[in-house]
Amino acid sequence: MLPRPGWAATLPRVAVVGAGISGLAAAHYLRTLGGGAVEVTVYEKSPRAGGAIVTDLSQGIPLEGGPDSLLVRKTAGVGLVRELGLGDNLMATHPGARGADIFHEGVLYPIPPGLIAGVPSSPAALLDSGLLGPQGKRDLMRGRRPRPRRAGGDVSLGELLAYHLGPEVVDRIAAPLLSGIYAGDIWQLSARATYPQLLEWEQRYRSLIAGRAAMPPPPPGPRAPIFMTPRQGLESVVQALVGALSPQIRLNTPVDALVPQGTEFQVHTRSGVDVVDAVVLAVPATEAARLSAEVEPAAAALLGTIPYAPLAVVGLVFDPGDIELPVGKTGALVPKGEELFLTAATYVTQKWPYGEEGAVPVRVFYGRSGDDRAVAMSDEDLAALSLTELARLTPVPGSPRYVRVFRHRPGMPQYTVGHEERVQALEKCLGGWPRLRVCGSAFHGVGVPDCIKDGRAQAEALIGQFAGGSPGIKQA
Ligand SMILES: Cc1cc2nc3c(=O)[nH]c(=O)nc-3n(C[C@H](O)[C@H](O)[C@H](O)COP(=O)(O)OP(=O)(O)OC[C@H]3O[C@@H](n4cnc5c(N)ncnc54)[C@H](O)[C@@H]3O)c2cc1C
Repeated sequence: MLPRPGWAATLPRVAVVGAGISGLAAAHYLRTLGGGAVEVTVYEKSPRAGGAIVTDLSQGIPLEGGPDSLLVRKTAGVGLVRELGLGDNLMATHPGARGADIFHEGVLYPIPPGLIAGVPSSPAALLDSGLLGPQGKRDLMRGRRPRPRRAGGDVSLGELLAYHLGPEVVDRIAAPLLSGIYAGDIWQLSARATYPQLLEWEQRYRSLIAGRAAMPPPPPGPRAPIFMTPRQGLESVVQALVGALSPQIRLNTPVDALVPQGTEFQVHTRSGVDVVDAVVLAVPATEAARLSAEVEPAAAALLGTIPYAPLAVVGLVFDPGDIELPVGKTGALVPKGEELFLTAATYVTQKWPYGEEGAVPVRVFYGRSGDDRAVAMSDEDLAALSLTELARLTPVPGSPRYVRVFRHRPGMPQYTVGHEERVQALEKCLGGWPRLRVCGSAFHGVGVPDCIKDGRAQAEALIGQFAGGSPGIKQA
């Protein structure tokens, strides 16, 4: 008989593997929606919870090492923050924010207004941007009267956008905009999994520009915030979740293996073996592949096909006067192929209304799909490179008083062409194991709200299973 330390005998026991936001959300909703009738344990390999979410508060103003914003339209994010009692801490982006610039051949150009995935509602917005050469402008004008695209099914965003707007719009405008979200290669990212509305526009209007133009204008009056973040940083959300769950979170406890045992699962860690009724794998897909191999090899094989792009964020904190930020600008984006390695920079105090804090934090991003040269550098070299490159974007007369390098490995999952079909195939494979759930950024959206929604969905599915009292479940 295998030991079952800490488990009540009569309640269904769930192991959540991974204490990133997906795993924490799954555990939170198992607890709250399960009405206390589910025993949850969260296993986390690292000494801290939060995964990609990490906030450094040492400089008196939050310095985010991972995500810094919640898309309000995807309500699971701000919804959870409010549920946790942190709603009053939410702030919208700076009212004076005037957007970011795009770096092209040593010059900074404002991002043209009104774009969705790089698609304007009229070519004029891009023609006047300064970012396109004569050929790019000709291609763009042709996009107003496209021939029907023959290919059906999924297609890369790059291919779709290039067909309608020309390759220069893709490489110089759409790719840097989208790399901020997916850190991916636009020529490989799936249109269906990332921007399905582009395929709808194409079907309905034949022209993407016409589709974008047909979108209703925003209602008059003050605009609702698009992004929000907690004033104390996103890790405050993690802390609130950890506070509510804390006795059930086991840090420094990597799960080494998962072994099926009848209708139950053995969870192997270095401190022993726990037997549980259900498992939520909330780890990167590469790790979920390893852990599910003994349970369902076909699912493991599919999980192993999801690629990742490693990322690094260099946080630099300056004293006022040691860096001169362009007024109102929230940062800059650098397309692939330019002379700078960095992919983006964020001017934190111009993106978020922290007020006069006596510190000027800047975040510099490195890492692209298929190119981990910058991320492979030492912290010292990366910090030095980021400072040199930042000075190409904005004057830096002084030196930072604080530098911290945050690394993300495996990094950002890549939704390459065919992603949705692969996820559907995965879910079909796992259909025979209703008590083994996978969730996280690799499947139904990379954003924090997507991860929270996915974690909640897996919790609800398990609660439904337990309520059904199917075999193997201990009734309370
Ligand atoms: C630099 C960066 C900026 C981003 N910016 C934004 C943004 O502004 N807005 C937004 O919405 N999204 C953003 N994202 C995306 C978002 O932050 C992530 O997709 C999300 O946080 C991923 O959460 P997760 O729980 O799925 O995975 P993770 O955060 O990767 O968590 C997985 C956890 O599993 C643990 N683990 C792995 N293996 C094991 C094991 N064997 N046993 C136990 N534990 C294990 C890991 O240690 C980790 O804690 C950004 C991401 C990055 C990297």
